[in-house]
Amino acid sequence: METERWVNRERAIWNMLALRPRPQPLESITSYITRLAEANGLQSIDELGALAEGITFSSLKSPDYPAVAYLALAQVTGYPEERWFDMTFFHLLQRFGYAINRYSLHKFFHGSLTSSLRYCPVCLAEHTPAYYSLLWRFLVLPGCMEHGVRFLSQCGHCTSPLPLLRDLPQLIRCPTCQGDLRTCLPDPLNEDEVEPTMQRTLDLNMLLTPGSRPLPEEQAKLIGKRFQVLRQRRDLWVPEIARLLGRETSVIRDIDYVSRFRKASLKDYMQYVALLGYSLREIFDEQSLEELAEPLSEEQLLEQVETAIRQLKARGKTVLPGNVGDLVGMTGSRLKQYPRVKKLLNRYETERKREIFQFDPKLEEELVKQVEDTLKQLEAREEPIVLQHVCDLVGLTYSWMVKTYPRIRVLFSEYQRNQVGRYRSPRSDEEAKVQQVQAALNVLVSRGEPVTLKRIRQMVRLTQKQLRRSPRIRGLLAPYIGKWQREAS
Ligand SMILES: [Zn+2]
Ligand SMILES: [Zn+2]
Repeated sequence: METERWVNRERAIWNMLALRPRPQPLESITSYITRLAEANGLQSIDELGALAEGITFSSLKSPDYPAVAYLALAQVTGYPEERWFDMTFFHLLQRFGYAINRYSLHKFFHGSLTSSLRYCPVCLAEHTPAYYSLLWRFLVLPGCMEHGVRFLSQCGHCTSPLPLLRDLPQLIRCPTCQGDLRTCLPDPLNEDEVEPTMQRTLDLNMLLTPGSRPLPEEQAKLIGKRFQVLRQRRDLWVPEIARLLGRETSVIRDIDYVSRFRKASLKDYMQYVALLGYSLREIFDEQSLEELAEPLSEEQLLEQVETAIRQLKARGKTVLPGNVGDLVGMTGSRLKQYPRVKKLLNRYETERKREIFQFDPKLEEELVKQVEDTLKQLEAREEPIVLQHVCDLVGLTYSWMVKTYPRIRVLFSEYQRNQVGRYRSPRSDEEAKVQQVQAALNVLVSRGEPVTLKRIRQMVRLTQKQLRRSPRIRGLLAPYIGKWQREAS
């Protein structure tokens, strides 16, 4: 045991490289590997890899991603493991609460990174030692903030593209023409690029540097809450953001509420924050995030609910607990567990009912006509008719229509009677089943009973399998089944 430890230590010392340059601020691991090999007079970066548990650096496809393999380098340099992660995208990923697995990383960075070297020749010339910055990899930056110049993405002498890592360790020479990259001439940044470049550089600087305190487990959710708060301040809804960015609603929802299967990429986060007119530094503001980690007080929730109500009204939408809940990221029933919020929501409900129950004969006339037309259309298309769907098409609930308008009540009950009469005619087995399910749906809806699969099965005496086998029945039940699944999840 003792001997083994001694041997290990001996081997560690033996493997330690003679020259160990100090990593520079935001230096990329690509740069450091090259410098380390160069400083120690190695002929190839794989020679360095051989010392570090046999890593083949030249075959790394995404060298600046955090990889466990780099820990082997800690041994040959004596630099602590954490310092190696500082040279990768590790801290940025941690900040977004991203799990480090290669597949999701590719998705997360999609459209954000260059795959070959971009560089600022002035940086290479002025900094001693010369090194590559992690910042250069981000496409969102057109150039170098420090020198106000555009990055070059090829050799300025021979225009060859430059790989991130090359076998021969040469940091400042073009592998094709051996030209000195420090003497290449960059273009200045356009005037209107200077300010955004500065803001984004500061943002990325913050993301790539370790924070002052450990990040909580629910980091992604906290960031999402920050986006929600700032989005609310701009009076924008998730679908509105999605439309403005030309992205799917699910991507924006993923940022705000964090889905199980992550959809948003770094680019999405960046475009979203730019649309809101904030910087990522404001999103990641540690103080604000800490406050969000605290459970919401009733006072704060009430404020959010009031904002949601104001927004619903401004968009001509009905103030319902569900609608409000959607906007504050909580279910309607959960909202009502807060007495003051409940009181506020109830007030709106009462107000709405009062408006609704005012009987209006002219409106009744119109509705009767609309319902009759809808029924006729559905019949003409030979679509299965469920009265609740008819009401949905008219845009009102069945129970309310029947309660408020006697003529509609008569119309519906007549319709149901006729429909029952129709079952008696001989029909195919499938048709009969469809009709049965339709009738059962109508009965449940007209009694105001909840529509459940179990209840339907009891009424029509069919097994779940029989119900599911028929595509038409599945179609009939689909809106309810979707609803149950949503409610269950
Ligand atoms: Zn520069
Ligand atoms: Zn060249």
